[in-house]
Amino acid sequence: MFVILLAIVSCASIQAPSHIPSKDDLVKKVYVDKNFTLEQQKDLAYAMYQWECNTDGMVKFTVSYGFDMNNYHFIENAGYALVIEKTDSLDHEIQEMDKLKTASKTIGLYIAGSDTEASRILLVGDRIFYDSLYIATMQHEIGHAQGMGHSSSTNSIMYPLIPNGAWHITDYDLEVLCTIYNCDPTKFKRNCEQ
Ligand SMILES: [Zn+2]
Repeated sequence: MFVILLAIVSCASIQAPSHIPSKDDLVKKVYVDKNFTLEQQKDLAYAMYQWECNTDGMVKFTVSYGFDMNNYHFIENAGYALVIEKTDSLDHEIQEMDKLKTASKTIGLYIAGSDTEASRILLVGDRIFYDSLYIATMQHEIGHAQGMGHSSSTNSIMYPLIPNGAWHITDYDLEVLCTIYNCDPTKFKRNCEQ
């Protein structure tokens, strides 16, 4: 007998005490864990590109691949740095999140940093089974890194149950972003390659 398990997966975020957001917050140095496969690195790069091109470069990432996760405490300008970490369901931070949710399993977690500590995106490798889910989850977590919260609309990349929400950045998401950063979302040309 063939059994298909449909997992409901979701995201959690831990936001730091907020400062007044400025567009400088949208220009980040990104450090990608050396444990991602080449294919997964491509997925992460594609997700970052989607944010960059949908905002005409207002969101901008400078990415270093092959980063050793033991070194993230020594990052320069940590307040503008984002570490992308590949973890698994045995990670205690993920297990703590699972305990808070009975109906879903955590596949992504955003943990806000501070002026001296880098922010972190944790992706749960043994629960993200395919490339398009990596791309969607990563776009969602970047939204958190930009100060966006969860959306109750399924027409949003920020819907917390990731498979049920939008799998791409929507007009609605850009409106929310521009509410935070005081921009005009209708001005974005959004010439994105697919
Ligand atoms: Zn989330």
